[in-house]
Amino acid sequence: MSLSSINKPLRDAVWKRDDGRCRYCGLLQVGQAAVFHIDHIHPRSLDGPTSLENLALQCPHCSLRKSNTVEAPDPVNGIAVRMFHPLRDRWEDHFVLRRNGIIEGRTPIGRSTAAALQFNERWAVSARSLQIALGWIDIGDDEGETV
Ligand SMILES: [Zn+2]
Repeated sequence: MSLSSINKPLRDAVWKRDDGRCRYCGLLQVGQAAVFHIDHIHPRSLDGPTSLENLALQCPHCSLRKSNTVEAPDPVNGIAVRMFHPLRDRWEDHFVLRRNGIIEGRTPIGRSTAAALQFNERWAVSARSLQIALGWIDIGDDEGETV
């Protein structure tokens, strides 16, 4: 969806609420050349509304892979489960971010979303690990051992 179809006050509200961070992978807009997108969490093509409760800031990497996806297979067993919902689900419940920039899924929803959005593709990990090293991304209390 083009930005122009989401009015400026609504775009501004999403940017403010999401604080310049991709609500899926956690990447920050700062330091990125490509402007983050505003995602319809439940796709507009499936009657998702254009409302603050259905919009989330999303980096281009995640946006291009998510598109209108609403479910994806858990890589562990191939069973399709719903995608992570960035406003209803707690990120920490479904994912863990390692100091090296790798994101691991903790749940079927986390694993399926991480795989579908290719969180651990080389360039995405590179960008995240730089932001972690700069202290821009907090890895929280659950950080595990890195390789
Ligand atoms: Zn992202």
